[in-house]
Amino acid sequence: MTDTPKPFAPGAFLHLRANQLAKGAPIAPPITTASMFHLPGQPDGSDFYGRATNPTWNDVEKQLTVLEQAPTRLFPSGMAAISAALFATCRSKTRLLLPSDGYYTTRLLADRFLAQLGVTVVERPTAAFEDGGFDGFDVVFLESPSNPGLDMMDIAATAQAVRAAGGITIADNTTLTPLGQRPLDLGVDIVVSSDTKAMGGHSDLLLGHVSSRNDDVMEAITDWRLYSGAIPGPHAAWLLHRGLETLEVRFDRMCHNAEALAARLAEHPSVQTLRFPGLPQDPAHNLARAQCSRFGFLISFTLADEATAEAFINDCPLIRPATSFGGVHSSAERRARWGDAVDPGFVRLSVGIEPAEELWAAIEAAL
Ligand SMILES: *Cc1c(COP(=O)(O)O)cnc(C)c1O
Repeated sequence: MTDTPKPFAPGAFLHLRANQLAKGAPIAPPITTASMFHLPGQPDGSDFYGRATNPTWNDVEKQLTVLEQAPTRLFPSGMAAISAALFATCRSKTRLLLPSDGYYTTRLLADRFLAQLGVTVVERPTAAFEDGGFDGFDVVFLESPSNPGLDMMDIAATAQAVRAAGGITIADNTTLTPLGQRPLDLGVDIVVSSDTKAMGGHSDLLLGHVSSRNDDVMEAITDWRLYSGAIPGPHAAWLLHRGLETLEVRFDRMCHNAEALAARLAEHPSVQTLRFPGLPQDPAHNLARAQCSRFGFLISFTLADEATAEAFINDCPLIRPATSFGGVHSSAERRARWGDAVDPGFVRLSVGIEPAEELWAAIEAAL
């Protein structure tokens, strides 16, 4: 990685590019689509081929390096980032621990491909990570809050226990972003993120990243990208650069909106169980207060049955019925339709940046 990260300040990444420009340079970064670069004589570390480096990725990786306070590589999707982290750390006979209630595709990747290479894959619910018992695990993957159940684990205690047992930790920080939670500062070895979600924020790109302060890990991650060819497209990278410039404002508004909505939803007679780590009565509240700087923008709750939940999601004019989350428009879906182990009336709501009172009025009417 190229730059030494500046001390973390929410606004520091915003002016990163602008502060380094030569006279006449464009303020917004150009999109470089070149596969070939001018390369007379001996290679000397300049850009030389589009699978190895790209100036537009570079602009985004600089922003992410400041946000994560760690060297970072960009990948074409969250799953490409997760694949890089797992293939860089797992080998034959590795024992890998995964959350049984985390992002579904991570488990599919491990079961379908890592297991057949001789990796032993073990699953455990997020809420049970606090029981310890990490002896014999080489790689422990965690996701807190879990998706879609929003359970949490003590990240610092888990990272410390895994390290004491000789293993390394990978945290999927997609749901809270580096502005809401900083797993590397809590002792985790590797952070992965789907930047398709709140980081990009406009539901118009797929990307992901891997960050780590461990040089050997980042060398393996960089080699994985170069050799596997799992490289981001320059146009998506450019969109992410633009999205990140408004991340702080969007994330702040989304979290505020979610806090306001969760408190009111929890009181609503049509809402059965509700999970939002920001509510004092939520089982994850104390952990969230201790390790997160924001409570996030995801709320999960259960309505009477499938038909009620479908009607709510489809009829509320300010909610987009859609899978995925983290966009500027509020969206929701019934997770049971994908086979998640949740109630048929279980709704995951991703709160957007709409004015809070308009959003609540629309939700209340739809309920
Ligand atoms: C969406 C998501 C992913 C996968 O990201 P893609 O960009 O869709 O590949 C991984 N982890 C979590 C928690 C996610 O929400």
